Amino acid sequence: MKRVFLKLSGEALAGEKHTGFDEPTVTEVAKQVKQIADKGIQIGIVIGGGNFWRGRTSETIDRPKADQIGMLATIMNCIYVSEIFRSVGMDTEIFTPFLCGSMTKLFSKDEADKCFNEGKIVFFAGGTGHPYFSTDTGIVLRAIEMEAEGIYLAKAIDGVYDSDPKLNPAAKKYDEVSIQEVIDQKLAVVDLTASIMCMENKMPMYVFGLNEENSIVKAMSGEFNGTK
Ligand code: UDP
Repeated sequence: MKRVFLKLSGEALAGEKHTGFDEPTVTEVAKQVKQIADKGIQIGIVIGGGNFWRGRTSETIDRPKADQIGMLATIMNCIYVSEIFRSVGMDTEIFTPFLCGSMTKLFSKDEADKCFNEGKIVFFAGGTGHPYFSTDTGIVLRAIEMEAEGIYLAKAIDGVYDSDPKLNPAAKKYDEVSIQEVIDQKLAVVDLTASIMCMENKMPMYVFGLNEENSIVKAMSGEFNGTK
């Protein structure tokens, strides 16, 4: 593959702490991404915000305002992760769908394309820029726009199961599952909006467990054992 997107949840940055940043965890991710980038694969990164805030965290405040906080959390995450990536020798750029002064660049396909072609790791922060959406939808949107060949979803679980393996020890992991099935069986891999966009645009998604050793490198270099 020439260009792929990787989604990290906000919580994946927090390690055991479940909130904020865990530097050793993020440094490990950075080292793995560098191995893939060194092979000439272009990598776009989208990060959630759940280690700080999700729009649904508060039932008191106005949802669009709560979502603004969530989108800002994803930008903080991208700035942090981008800096850790730089510390291990990668060149990076962060795009947002709205202006953030000198902190990020305003997204445009042409500018992002240039960065990919210069060998930079390109971060797409701030989700879609709209409330009521998620970073799952954000990554699908940007991956389609940027003509990526696939989306890698790093999860706390190692693939898609027909039921929750924590509750059902006989749960079966899929090697491959159609988005239609994901929707019909409410498998909740990504939210519905993201699922439908993927289906309509034939964008493949690869779900794998982030916690396994060297998981990103394995998933992106032929040793994928999650769910396509
Ligand atoms: N968000 C939003 N619009 C978007 C993307 C994200 O409003 O296009 C907000 C929303 O409040 C969401 C939060 O940002 O809850 C963090 O994103 P997400 O929940 O996807 O993060 P994750 O759960 O993957 O850490």
